Amino acid sequence: MIVDYYSEFEGAVRRVKAEGRYRVFADLERKRGQFPIARFHDENGVRDVTVWCSNDYLGMGQNEHVLPAMHKAIESVGAGAGGTRNIAGTTHYHVLLERELATLHGKEAALLFTSGYVGNEATLSTLSSILPGVVILSDAYNHASMIQGIRQGRCEKRIWKHNDLDDLESQLKELPLKQPKIIAFESVYSMDGDIAPISDICDLADKYNAMTYLDEVHAVGLYGEQGGGIAQRDGVQRRIDIIEGTLGKAFGVMGGYIAARASVIDAIRSYASGFIFTTALSPVLVAGALASVQYLKSAGHLRDKHQERAATLKHLLKEAGFPVMPSVSHIVPVLVGDPVACKRVTDLLLSKHNIYVQPINYPTVPRGTERLRLTPSPLHTDDQFQALLRGLDDVWSILRLERAA
Ligand SMILES: *Cc1c(COP(=O)(O)O)cnc(C)c1O
Repeated sequence: MIVDYYSEFEGAVRRVKAEGRYRVFADLERKRGQFPIARFHDENGVRDVTVWCSNDYLGMGQNEHVLPAMHKAIESVGAGAGGTRNIAGTTHYHVLLERELATLHGKEAALLFTSGYVGNEATLSTLSSILPGVVILSDAYNHASMIQGIRQGRCEKRIWKHNDLDDLESQLKELPLKQPKIIAFESVYSMDGDIAPISDICDLADKYNAMTYLDEVHAVGLYGEQGGGIAQRDGVQRRIDIIEGTLGKAFGVMGGYIAARASVIDAIRSYASGFIFTTALSPVLVAGALASVQYLKSAGHLRDKHQERAATLKHLLKEAGFPVMPSVSHIVPVLVGDPVACKRVTDLLLSKHNIYVQPINYPTVPRGTERLRLTPSPLHTDDQFQALLRGLDDVWSILRLERAA
């Protein structure tokens, strides 16, 4: 054989294993009505575990308004969209959800994609064909889907230091005022739980004549009066040109979207390959997402409870001496600082304590900052908090990890 194809594949996997980044899926079945409990399958059989790392932040994937909406949709129109949006795939549910999302963000229009990843990739890669000579100024911690989109667009790209206004301004200053510029960033950064200074970034955008592109994936449904995200909370939605979100995290279903001026949406709709050449989201998913967005508009109590749970967990962990990383959001990162130890922590939590949390290792976070990323929801109880603390206590002792006095 001239090319040993299969050994190349095996070698690729071996390299991942050698770097300690080989991933094992957790085989779960969530139990409706018992969030955050799920059945966990492994070689020893099946048992119940408490999930501490879901991005279904509010348990909306099991919500009593979302599920009937999906049942109703499948009964009335069937399973799939049956085509791309341009060719038979636009259902009335799509039209209603886009309207709802535009209103949520105070924009003229919105556009659905099959996921948040596709939304970022398709939109950012298309901007360069609409704005010749554009430079995209990208925060250093931006999500892989934004980086991928910017790369594909093959426009000039500049990376500014994470949340660093001085660095952003010094880079903006170097560019001609007349050159089109887009500042691309996130609101809540999902690994550290820090939040961008959106209003200050908008000031710089005004001063240097730039557009703004904001990924609110970890904030939609969770922040703002109606769940519009951090830009809504901070009263700066109008200053953001393009807001991007997901329907798969806090909204608990699946899909992604952008919201912007009608002219922007119309152009992206007309040029973005990742929008045009793919089958539309199932109307069942769209109906579920629509119910979820509508429900969360007036669910301030759930958002308050979510913040309370996160604050309480941070406090309890700190009190017990665990190295909680500074976070101003609902995300609770606990530093381990070593990839092997991090994996050991999560293996022991699962095997001894029936607690499921994924280790977060390089390349998701920089080496030496390996961590647990806990996402307490409004449905995590005080008893579950105590069980987590007991589990961490045990594992920290077994592995002799550091704790504050
Ligand atoms: C998860 C994520 C996405 C992608 O959204 P999906 O709907 O899961 O594809 C985009 N941006 C950020 C910051 C994310 O964390």
